[in-house]
Amino acid sequence: LFIALEGGDGSGKSTQARLLQEWLEGHGCEVVLTREPGGTELGRTLRREVLHGEDLDPRTEALLYAADRAHHVHTLVRPALVRGAVVVTDRYIDSSVAYQGAGRRLGREEIRELSLWATGGLLPDLTVVLDLDAATAAARRSGEPDRLEREPHAFHEEVRAGFLALADAEPDRYAVVDASLPPQDVHRAVVAALSPLLGL
Ligand code: C5P
Repeated sequence: LFIALEGGDGSGKSTQARLLQEWLEGHGCEVVLTREPGGTELGRTLRREVLHGEDLDPRTEALLYAADRAHHVHTLVRPALVRGAVVVTDRYIDSSVAYQGAGRRLGREEIRELSLWATGGLLPDLTVVLDLDAATAAARRSGEPDRLEREPHAFHEEVRAGFLALADAEPDRYAVVDASLPPQDVHRAVVAALSPLLGL
């Protein structure tokens, strides 16, 4: 089973990923919790040295995320799925469609095609979109903002609309959860969306 958590910066993805891991393990699943960018050694290098550094032109950025994803799927995600683990990834294809496709205006369809090529067409069984308005998300973030977190609200609203459009187009494969709720309430909503897939 392959689950992706998506949403803007500050939407609580990493907290929810951890809660979900504990819940799945409590139900006897082997869980591989991972992330993009940076789920592999190569990805961590890209994240640290390249993606969060200097300003990149949007196409370069899109290709680097796609390269990270190709390597991630090939070396980590597919092998884990093959041995029967549940893979939970903090960001996947939809982040590229929302940030590079919608936010950077490279075209959602083009970025989706690029990502599908990179992954050999691997799509999550369920994608959970943690939905939060840009102002609330910005207020939640702490510490030094990274390159993307410094983008104006309008950029983050485009990204948000990008995620929601994907969920709208494929309601069977998506759950949109109100991420302004307290973490335990968000977790309950995530579990409610996932339970049928596990036969629970
Ligand atoms: O959520 P996380 O901290 O892993 O995201 C790292 C940064 O990369 C965030 O600022 C996010 O906005 C950005 N990002 C992006 N395009 C992607 C994935 C992440 O711009 N495809």
